[in-house]
Parts: sequence; C-alpha cells; structure tokens
Amino acid sequence: AMELETRFRRAVEFALMSQALGGDAGADPAGGKLELHYQPQVDQHGRVVGAEALARWTDPSLGRVPPDRFIAAAERNGLIIPFGRWALRQAAAQARKWRDQMGNRSPRVAVNVSAVQFADDRFIEEVSSVINTYHLLPGMLELELTETVLMQDADDAARRISTLRQMGVAVAIDDFGTGYSSLAYLHRLTIDTLKVDRSFVAGMSGERRGPGAPASGPLQGSGAAVTRAIISMGRSLGMNVLAEGVETDAQQQLLVRMGCDQMQGYLFSPPVPAEKFAELIALGNGV
Ligand code: C2E
Ligand code: CA
Ligand code: CA
Ligand code: CA
Repeated sequence: AMELETRFRRAVEFALMSQALGGDAGADPAGGKLELHYQPQVDQHGRVVGAEALARWTDPSLGRVPPDRFIAAAERNGLIIPFGRWALRQAAAQARKWRDQMGNRSPRVAVNVSAVQFADDRFIEEVSSVINTYHLLPGMLELELTETVLMQDADDAARRISTLRQMGVAVAIDDFGTGYSSLAYLHRLTIDTLKVDRSFVAGMSGERRGPGAPASGPLQGSGAAVTRAIISMGRSLGMNVLAEGVETDAQQQLLVRMGCDQMQGYLFSPPVPAEKFAELIALGNGV
C-alpha cells in the first residue's frame, strides 16, 4: 500500500509537470503513465453526445492499477487534490480540442469529482480558472458528483452547485440510488444529469414480471422497477437521465422504452484513449 502511494505520488507529480510544460501526460522516464480515457455517452438514437473521462494509471512494477484503488488511496493521503486538478485540466483541454475539431457537435466532457476535492476551498476557483484558460462554453464541461458529496453538507453543496451552473458548468449525480440521498432535498438541487447506477441496469433482466411492466416482451427483474422509477422521477424534475453500465441490446431497448434520455456502457464502447474516441465519433456521427 505504501509503495502504491509513493508511486502514485510520483505519477501525479510527473503528469502535472508534463501538463504545465504543455505536453500531454506521456510516460515518465521510469515508464509510468497516468492518462484519461473517455467513454461515450449516447442519446436514444445512438449519437455520441458526451464523454466521461476515466483515469488510467499504469505503473512499471505494479502494472495497471484500477482507479477505484488509487483514487481511494489518494483520498486518504490528500493526493486527490493535485490529481483532481490534473484531471480537470486534462479533460478541459480535451473538450477544447474536440470543439475546435468538431464545432458544436463536439461531446460534452464529464469529469469525476471526489468528495474531498469538492469540499476543498479552492475547487470553485480552479474550475473558473480552467474555464477561462480553455475558453469553455456552457455545456462543454460536466462535473459528476456522488450522493455522498451532496449529503455531507446539503446547504453548502446546493450553493456550490448553483455557483458552478452559473459559470456554465453542468452537474451530474453519479451512481444514483446507491447512496443515501434524500428525495426531500433532491428537488432543491439544480442538477442537469441523473446517472442511474449500473447495478439497477444489470438487475433489469430477470425472472420477475414487475408490476406495471408490459405483459409481453422480455421478463424483467426488480432492477427494472427501480430503474423505471428513477427515470420517471428524474424526468419529471426536468433532469437528463443517463443509464450506466448498458451491456446488452435488451437493456438498451427497455431503457429507451422507459424514456431514458442517454446511455453509457460496454454495448457502445469501453473507455478509450482520446484519439480512438474521435474515430468513434467520426464513424457514428458522420462528423
Ligand atoms: P464511475 O464514475 O461510476 O465510472 C464508471 C465505471 O464503470 C468505470 O470503471 C467504467 O469503466 C465502468 N463501466 C463502463 N461501462 C461499463 C459496463 O457496461 N459494464 C461494467 N461492468 N462497467 C462499466 P473504472 O474506469 O474502473 O472507474 C471506477 C471508478 O473510479 C469510477 O466509477 C470513479 O468513481 C473512479 N474514477 C475513475 N476516474 C476518476 C477520476 O478521474 N476522478 C475521480 N475522482 N474518480 C475517478
Ligand atoms: Ca462517474
Ligand atoms: Ca457511475
Ligand atoms: Ca462508481
């Protein structure tokens, strides 16, 4: 664990230095590499409308370390702050690059924000500086927050979210349904996107024919009832509802029937390097 933290610190320092020098975060002399991959988010017609930035770290001796592990470690030792700053800048630079290449058909770029990062006093300032540096227009950047973040200090979170939105940044609630958010405060927040956690999507097909489900068509598990309820609630609150972890045609069809606005998952594409993402867009969207 100690080795992981020491090595991750080195990777973050190198990435920040490389970023400051204007290069993309390539490999450091010891062979380590920290980069962002992007997973497409598609609308009901399969058109790519967004890109979720997901961090990838390959260390010469530890190999590829899953983000869940290095993010958790970074939250404990404070490295999440410099790491988060790097990721935000990297994603914003990418959003600008795609806008220059594709015009207003460029995907909005979604960045994960950890609770520790969101609570940091300089966070809003940093977002503002990134917007100015990369001349981001409204809709180009979305921040993904978890329910846990929002519940820690609901009033403060609501204020920060409204500031971010005034700055032209969209806000998403990630992994919705897995945390402890209260429906009582959800309607007070101005949220753009509600991301249905993939556990519900995975539980959609099953033995049970849920109440309210059509009498014919594929059998539906209990995840289908929860998914349907979240979609209908999100949409009635005016939110864009996005289902995560979509892996099968059957799931996609059911989600579209339920009125889900957008989807993301291996069915469309795994997270891929930025260059590969641009190729996907060129193929699918006819840009
Ligand atoms: P997340 O934000 O919920 O990201 C979605 C995760 O689901 C990603 O895992 C993605 O690769 C995976 N996924 C996408 N489609 C499918 C699918 O169809 N089926 C299944 N089973 N999985 C799918 P990944 O990349 O391993 O990231 C894990 C978590 O690490 C993320 O969960 C997020 O919480 C965190 N993370 C990753 N990058 C960052 C980052 O830059 N900053 C912060 N704060 N957290 C990050
Ligand atoms: Ca996410
Ligand atoms: Ca998620
Ligand atoms: Ca997650």
